This record gives sequence, C-alpha cells and structure tokens, in this order.
Amino acid sequence: MRAAVFHGGKTLSVEEVDRPKPAHDEVLVRVAACGICRTDLHYLHGVPTFKEPPLILGHEISGTVEEAPHGGPEIGQRVLIPPVIPCGECEYCLQGRGTLCTHMVMLGNHRDGGFAEYVAVSQSVTFPLPDTVPLQEGCIISDAFSTPYHAVINRAEVKPGQTVAIFGCGGVGLAAVQMAVLAGARVVAVDLVEEKLLLAEDFGAWLTINASGVDDAAKEVRRLTSGGADVALEVIGNPATIRQAFDSLRWGGRLMVVGYTDKEVSFSGAKLMFREMEVRGSLGCGLHDFPKVIDLAAMGLLKVKEMVSHRFALEDINEGFRLLETGDPGLLRGIVLL
Ligand SMILES: [Zn+2]
Ligand SMILES: [Zn+2]
Repeated sequence: MRAAVFHGGKTLSVEEVDRPKPAHDEVLVRVAACGICRTDLHYLHGVPTFKEPPLILGHEISGTVEEAPHGGPEIGQRVLIPPVIPCGECEYCLQGRGTLCTHMVMLGNHRDGGFAEYVAVSQSVTFPLPDTVPLQEGCIISDAFSTPYHAVINRAEVKPGQTVAIFGCGGVGLAAVQMAVLAGARVVAVDLVEEKLLLAEDFGAWLTINASGVDDAAKEVRRLTSGGADVALEVIGNPATIRQAFDSLRWGGRLMVVGYTDKEVSFSGAKLMFREMEVRGSLGCGLHDFPKVIDLAAMGLLKVKEMVSHRFALEDINEGFRLLETGDPGLLRGIVLL
C-alpha cells in the first residue's frame, strides 16, 4: 500500500509499504482521509515519537472497514478512529479518566497511523460514522472536534449564559467556538487573523477581538464583558497568550490550557489566591464521548465540512505541512485524501 512514512527528517516520504495485518481483536480499515495536525508537525521539528522511525504518522482517521477477521463491525461500515487508545485497565482508566491513561497508545506515534491506504486498529475503537457526516471531512472530528468537546464540556464545565473567551482561532479554536456556543455560552473569540475571526462569527461567536489591533487583548475582553470572562480557553500553546487568557478572566474565573507548550507559564500568585482563580488543563477526549461528538455532527450542529479548508493527495502531504508550518492564514484544517 502507499503510505507517507516518517524517517526522522523534516519531511515525509511517500512510498510503498506492507499492508498491516489485523492482530487479535483488530480490524483493517481502508482509510478515506486523515487530518493534518500540529501534533504531527512537532515530530517533524524533532519532538521524538514513541515508536522509533520509520513510522507512518497521522491520527485523525476516517474510513471503512475492509477486513474484520476476528469479528466486530461489518465490512464496509463507515468508521471514525480516535487518535488515542487508552488501556482501559490503569488506575486512571478505571476512574473514567482515559485521557490520563498511563499506557495510552496513539496512532501515528506509538504505532503506525493514518497517512496510509490502510490502518489496523482494535475493533473496540471503530466508531460508526452516520451517512449524514461526510466520510472524508469527518476525519477531523477525531481530534479537531473531540478535543474541544472534552475541554469545553468536561474540563471547563461551561454552563449556559457564561462568557467564554477563546484565544486562538485555528482549527481546534474554531471548533471550540462552536462547542462553547452549543453549550450556551457567549463566546468572545480572539485571534490575529481577520479571516479567522469572521469565521468565528459565522460559527456563533458573540464578539471578536483582533489582538493585533488593541494594546492588550485581555483588557479588551474584560472591558467588553464588564469584568472578564468566566472561562478562557488558550488553544495555541504560547506562554504569553496563556498569561493573556488568564488575565482576561473575571474573579473566580477558570483558565483552560488546551494548547501545548514545553515552556514555563507564570501567573500572579496573589490573584490566583485572592481572586480564587482556577487553572485547568485538557488533553484529548475520552472514548465514551466519541459517540456524543459524532451525534452532534450528525445532527448538523457542528460545521465539519466548513472547517476543512485544504484537501491534499497523499503525494502532496508535505505541502500540507508546509502550509501549517508557515501559518497560512487561509488554513483551517487540511486533510489528506487516501
Ligand atoms: Zn491532532
Ligand atoms: Zn489506562
């Protein structure tokens, strides 16, 4: 089969490799599409993958079941595959917190992922994708929508009527806008790119702030919301923006760190204590929530197709990463069609 293989450099090599053989409880899925994510870019920048290269990257996968030698879903079933598969047995999994699993396996990291014609996965993680969700574009639900679902609903515990500031309107940020709107929040979207703020408006944001046009975006959020947001999500992973998100909160507010950074972040300890501020992190999404996120998409409540701005053939995958790398303002989510 054809696959985009990571050999440790800055680009992927499209080559012919063996088709995976489904083991014990696994099925073989014919990949329809796989989303291009910033996480993949980190590997190209030198963040080590768990499995040593050669490795097939890609963790936002949709497709159809091709072979089910050990039972499970029907052949031809349309499925969505989650990026991360928790073990189901460690202390965190047993507490229902699979996102903290100590033995998690991530596709395109611990094992081969979806930038390939086929992928083998446990039949327990093939979530049926209804006909009302486009098979190819639907792949982004796996991460770009499931991550904001967990962040907004479970971790931020957003309630109707609350004000939620979202810092960063890339793919995950704009999906977070949609999710917070669905949760009944008044959303203030913050970004540097006007096109993305216009999309945030389309997706239901109450207000938008172009951070390049104001002295202090945090102060602007506080001004527009008469005191600050109840919840602020940082979806970029930039220490300065995380700090800004914290500063945009009202007293007793909750900062959600959704973006990844390996840098230290600092806050005022006095404000944290005197104003009873909260800081929470959010990582991925538990398997039990996948059917709910898919249902929201199937009901037309999530704008899935609208979030996919670029479609690439496998041969052009490096162009997709180049656009992500250079921060092309027109790029929301790119997907690779298999
Ligand atoms: Zn991802
Ligand atoms: Zn576990």
